[in-house]
Amino acid sequence: MRIRRSAGINLRHLILLLAVFSAAVMLAGGMAGAYQVQRHQLMASTLEANEAFATKLARTTSDLLLRAQNNLAYAAGLMVRAGMTPAVQQAEVDRLRHLELGFNAVTVVDMQGVVRAVSPESLGLKGRRLDSALWRGLVDERVSTISAPFVTVLGNLAIVISQPLFDQAGRPLGRLSATMYLRADGGLRRLASEQYFRDGTYVYVVDSSGRLLYHPETDRIGTVVLNNSVIEAVRKGRSGQMRLVNSRGVDMLAGYAHVAAADWGVVVQRPVHAALKGLNDLMLRVLRLAVWPALALLTLLWLLSGWISRPLGELSRIVRDGYQDGDLQRIAAVNCWYLEARRLRGGLLEGYGQVRTRMGELHSAAHTDPLTGLGNRRGLEVALKALEELRRPFAVVALDIDFFKRVNDRHGHDMGDRVIAGLADLMRAQARQDDALFRLGGEEFLVVLPETGLDGAARIAERLRAGMEREWMPEGEGVTLSAGVAVWDGGDAEQTLKAADRALYRAKQGGRNRVEAAGP
Ligand code: GH3
Ligand code: MG
Ligand code: MG
Repeated sequence: MRIRRSAGINLRHLILLLAVFSAAVMLAGGMAGAYQVQRHQLMASTLEANEAFATKLARTTSDLLLRAQNNLAYAAGLMVRAGMTPAVQQAEVDRLRHLELGFNAVTVVDMQGVVRAVSPESLGLKGRRLDSALWRGLVDERVSTISAPFVTVLGNLAIVISQPLFDQAGRPLGRLSATMYLRADGGLRRLASEQYFRDGTYVYVVDSSGRLLYHPETDRIGTVVLNNSVIEAVRKGRSGQMRLVNSRGVDMLAGYAHVAAADWGVVVQRPVHAALKGLNDLMLRVLRLAVWPALALLTLLWLLSGWISRPLGELSRIVRDGYQDGDLQRIAAVNCWYLEARRLRGGLLEGYGQVRTRMGELHSAAHTDPLTGLGNRRGLEVALKALEELRRPFAVVALDIDFFKRVNDRHGHDMGDRVIAGLADLMRAQARQDDALFRLGGEEFLVVLPETGLDGAARIAERLRAGMEREWMPEGEGVTLSAGVAVWDGGDAEQTLKAADRALYRAKQGGRNRVEAAGP
């Protein structure tokens, strides 16, 4: 039987595809899930760390400023108690400047704005009268102050921490002030850049107007940053964490804290891509590590799929190649190690067996042609009915001896009969076990070939034609035959016979001694 050859995917490839697809989906799903979880955790912990660091820096900055204020208050008390002598004043400003507080200049200025003492003396301010807006704002303050950042005469961005001086009676004497440069190697800078980050994290400090007091890119110090949500938050005195896109379009994870002593804000931030870089590398490494197990799995799947598909593949190949002698043994020999394959094999064996049994019924007298011993027309009807009922595919070959009348005419009716009987012998010799042979009358024959396709049937017809041509030469004269081949299309078997007859007619028309196959 030749089942219509359906080119396409086979069971083994299907199993492989399914397995590879599910493995890929599982791997991708797992990786994506792990990535999401890790990413979320990394971002959360980065935000957490940045906030903790900002809080620590803010506290340290506050401490620095408080320490500066305390030291100034202590020195102020000392100077007043010592009677504000120039020597003590000079000694104290020098001492303050050399403390590890990052003071760049320390001055004592009296109520008239005249500088009484200055460190370093090289500034040459001693005896000069100050008339800056800063000083005018400070002179009447009765408390310790921290100025807003401003640009000094020398062009430095600076803050001034200032302490009022009172005599024993509480009358104002002037102010003791310390200047801290923000751009130079001042205390603030030392604080913020204390930590070196190779991972892209950086720190900046802003005042309440949004002006950068410290930034790792030093040329940005002193500039005012607007429209930055973290700076807005920190300017409002808040502390916390947020993800934001900074002024340069970089996605950032920021922690921020308010410096209460000076109304400043400290921001610690790290680009998201830097925070996730380790994770991306990790994912790539996991993928690379997965290559070998994946190859091993693929090999295993290849073997397994072959093992599963083999019984079905073998059975289907037997069916595809058409029924041949010994197929029952071939089918029985297929190693069907699982249930479905075993059932299929059982079904096939039963089907083939049934065909054989029903074909056996043909060998009864009522169904036999006496001259040749082949089946007769009634036998053919029985055979076709059996094949139709069992839904076993089959092909037919219709045969007709060429110019048979001439054989009768020239050599007599007996010789004609011998030719007919001889062709029957030839057919029997060529037939396979399950083929059914019929003489339908006169010198017309039919072969029914179960489980055979058009090509196989045509091959058999051609063998009969060649055999006839070779062997049947009564009185030195060749006798030939013509054949028409058709295959059952699953419908009315009568139509198959008609198609074979039409093919036979074409063979006659085409010059006889030839085989014609019906179109599909
Ligand atoms: P072709 O088929 O090539 O067209 O030519 P043909 O000569 O074979 O033509 P046709 O089929 O019409 O001839 C059949 C002849 O077979 C007619 C009949 O005399 C003869 N015939 C029919 N039955 C028998 C039979 O049982 N024995 C013999 N000897 N001859 C028979
Ligand atoms: Mg004929
Ligand atoms: Mg005829």
